[in-house]
Amino acid sequence: MIKGLVQGVGFRPFICRLALKHGLLGEVDNRTDGVSVIVQGDMKAIDRFSNDILQSAPPASQIKSIEIFETKFSEYDSFKIAASKNVENQITEVSPDIAVCQDCLDDMKDDTRRIEYPFTNCTNCGPRFTIIEALPYDRLKTSMKSFRMCEKCKKEYEDIQDRRFHAQPVACNSCGPVYHYKDPARSITSLRKIVEIISVQITSGKIVAVKGLGGYFLMCDALNDDAVRKLRLKKDRDAKPFAVMFRNISEVKKFCFLSSEEEKELASWRRPILILKQKEALSPSVSNGLNTTGAMLPYMPFHYLMFRSLKTPAVVLTSGNISDDPIIINDDEAEKYLFPVADSILSYNRNIINRADDSVVRIINHQQSILRRSRGFVPRPVDLKLYVEGILALGAEQKNSFCVGKGSQAIMSQYIGDLKNSSTYDFFTNTIDRFSDLFRFIPASITCDLHPDYLSTQHGEMLEKKHRIPLFRIQHHHAHVASCMAESGLDEEVIGISLDGTGYGTDGNIWGGEFMIADLKGFNRINHFEYIPMPGSGKAITEPWRMAFSYIYKYFGDSFDFSSVPLFRSIEDAKLLTVREMIVGKVNTPLTSGAGRLFDAVSALLGLCPLETFDAEAPMRLESAIDSKTDESYPFTMSDIISFDETFKAILEDMPHRSVSVIAAKFHNMVAQVILQVSRKIRMDTSLNKVVLSGGVFQNKYLLERSVEILKKDRFKVFTNHLVPANDGGISLGQLIITAKRLK
Ligand code: ZN
Ligand code: ZN
Ligand code: FE
Repeated sequence: MIKGLVQGVGFRPFICRLALKHGLLGEVDNRTDGVSVIVQGDMKAIDRFSNDILQSAPPASQIKSIEIFETKFSEYDSFKIAASKNVENQITEVSPDIAVCQDCLDDMKDDTRRIEYPFTNCTNCGPRFTIIEALPYDRLKTSMKSFRMCEKCKKEYEDIQDRRFHAQPVACNSCGPVYHYKDPARSITSLRKIVEIISVQITSGKIVAVKGLGGYFLMCDALNDDAVRKLRLKKDRDAKPFAVMFRNISEVKKFCFLSSEEEKELASWRRPILILKQKEALSPSVSNGLNTTGAMLPYMPFHYLMFRSLKTPAVVLTSGNISDDPIIINDDEAEKYLFPVADSILSYNRNIINRADDSVVRIINHQQSILRRSRGFVPRPVDLKLYVEGILALGAEQKNSFCVGKGSQAIMSQYIGDLKNSSTYDFFTNTIDRFSDLFRFIPASITCDLHPDYLSTQHGEMLEKKHRIPLFRIQHHHAHVASCMAESGLDEEVIGISLDGTGYGTDGNIWGGEFMIADLKGFNRINHFEYIPMPGSGKAITEPWRMAFSYIYKYFGDSFDFSSVPLFRSIEDAKLLTVREMIVGKVNTPLTSGAGRLFDAVSALLGLCPLETFDAEAPMRLESAIDSKTDESYPFTMSDIISFDETFKAILEDMPHRSVSVIAAKFHNMVAQVILQVSRKIRMDTSLNKVVLSGGVFQNKYLLERSVEILKKDRFKVFTNHLVPANDGGISLGQLIITAKRLK
């Protein structure tokens, strides 16, 4: 019995080939909890066989355990794959997309039918989730159905000894998909020519729209600042850092610091975008002053072919969408919207069925921390300790992802995005339908956020009426904490700490600096960041100077000389006055305990980000400002609430003579101290010792590493998110598990 992630990754054919190699008879069968193998033969051969399983398992599999025991069976005369008896089993057989493997790259050099063939794939690699329409996973239910296998591919497909046995997207240069290139002057189908022209285009600073695995991308030379700036302008994209694809690891190392864990993740079959610390900047407009680079390695055969003739070691590869719309997957839409933005367009004639952005990962505390969960991760389920069948969890509104419960597994959708955008909302509802079809899911209950205005909540209310099934509303930060408990298998009372941007509180205020005693059923809010007015509501988020003003006005009032601070000198008096009046008159000024707003305020105060041009820019710049180590910290006041009057007093005193870097570090250290001190207080009162940290603020590497370090030093057991994002992209998992517990 082999347990772990062994389904949908070509595991059974692999076992089959291995058994034949060792001259063993028997069968392999999929079970709900793994793969069962029965072998009959020489004991020594069986030993070698099980050793080989561990040594050479398919790259996308992950073996947790192999148990060997004797069993009774009727004599076998061959080794075979048992037909799936259970329909339920087929559900876990959808694999995420897998980066092209080394064997296939080798085939592209010496297999006559696959020389430089850019759709080369095998059982161990290639597109999966992005090309599947329905289950069971079979060629006719993928977008490969329009390509008739040639005789030779068919032979490989049917030969169990072959690496391409049952590889659904199997193809070669005589039967598979092909690329085509177009610019205003010409249209080209010869791949060799295409590669040549793209190299010329990129070298001369042009922008190319390229069809990837899960959508279209826009590409340009990452070392050509004119090109990057032009791309930014044309894409209408503010200042958000661009992701960069490097030629290979050694090029990454020239520009970024790379730990061994980071190197492993970067080169993994998932090939995510990895947030790395910069060593040397590419074009300045790529990261726009942040000290990190979102780096990835080639993952499609075409990427490799392209880099062979590209002069630059790195290209910007950013999602092909317009403003905030979802990444484009449709060829006609790409032609319509991306062709005008780009100088040329490179496409291929296989449809993308399921949209999937590049995933974004950061290594924090030597472990994977997922910031955006999509290609390479979806639809791999999260194993749970509770039965969650029939629960549809709709997630939050920003960075939305939803989650369906199957048995005791949560299948989370790919990153959807901000539902306020109408095309993104369509993507949301369409993907719910797709997942329902794909995983034979029928909702028996719905769960959503407590926020009445979230579009996901409204969709939940609609489904409640339509299907006449119960709707559960889960407090945002409880869901954050529960998302982490779910993936760690915790079902008990814990100290739950959620530092976050915004989330609707049970008192109608905006929460986000929350300390609770929580279990999977409910929570008790023990402490929280002090409520601060948000003058202008949403505007206070995009204009962090407003929060800086609000904090200082709260603590020092009218006697404070605002002109003594450079930030406020840079803001028109009239604006300052209006904001003051809004606070005093309580006009369009909700109250927030959001930790994100505290980071915003400090970032603005230090002049790092008075106005945001992209989501979470202010806290990112504040973290990015830290370049020195210090254990110094700022004071804060802890009673029933956490107050930062002393903190701001000390920061203002520091500002004239300490560097921004030191102030930023001291501030982060202070927040970590708050986490430690509140945890200690709760432990003293309750003897709880497990601390769960979740919420968007914990995407901050410095803060999370520091917090975990000092908590562990104080003998706390600390839990953080690894399988789903700590940001709102993980909310649906929390909603799902809380609802399962309440239903029980
Ligand atoms: Zn392969
Ligand atoms: Zn073929
Ligand atoms: Fe949140």
